[in-house]
Amino acid sequence: MSEAEESLHVPASSQRISEWVAQQLLDRIARGELVPGERLPGERQLAEQLHVSRVSVRAALQKLKTQGFLTAVQGGGTRVVSSAGAMDGALTEMVRVKHANLCDLVEIRQALEGWAARRAAERATPEQIAHIGKVLTAMGQTGRDGKQAADDMDFHLAVAQAAGSPVYLHLLATIRDILGQMMDYHHTEPFALGKEALMIDHHRAIYEAIARRDADAASAAAIAHLGWVLERYNDMPKDPETAPAAKTDAPKA
Ligand SMILES: [Zn+2]
Repeated sequence: MSEAEESLHVPASSQRISEWVAQQLLDRIARGELVPGERLPGERQLAEQLHVSRVSVRAALQKLKTQGFLTAVQGGGTRVVSSAGAMDGALTEMVRVKHANLCDLVEIRQALEGWAARRAAERATPEQIAHIGKVLTAMGQTGRDGKQAADDMDFHLAVAQAAGSPVYLHLLATIRDILGQMMDYHHTEPFALGKEALMIDHHRAIYEAIARRDADAASAAAIAHLGWVLERYNDMPKDPETAPAAKTDAPKA
């Protein structure tokens, strides 16, 4: 957009400029261009992108932090908070104290991911499908020990983005945050050690179905993958209070 066009949109007073900047950032979050957990560009970069002063950007970021949409990152910068983030505390506690609640949460995620894979098969752009394929290739590379959990998360995030629903991105982020905390709590490995090949097969089935626009197969593959994950959760110690620190194979998946 040229400066002339942009000047039609940027309001005149400085207070209104910072409100306008805040609205631009909220719009990006709502469109799923900025996803939960994503780090925002720096103040200067945002100021350049939006053709406003750094002071206006700083005021906008402060406002969004106060409203709970953004949070400060250790070492500087800001990242997007899940819009459902305020529920995390209560939900996390429910899931922590009762194993059945933990399994329910995984089951709900299974239903959601089945829906997302279906939507991705129906609506993903060629670029989004290519991105899912790239993440899958990275997962299959050897010598990525310790990166499997991050790769796995990237894959599910890529499918979520291909589903084209910011609401889903935020719901998934909330569920994943809680499951991630549970994995830390139970001292389990974040990825099913020794099951890497099986995991790759699961993810490849999801990717290939999305790539050939087979919505039923994509949904079934996602549900089967999360069903396997659910079984691992069912195998976990039932009473977290007395759970041994021994490692189990429950994956973050
Ligand atoms: Zn997975």
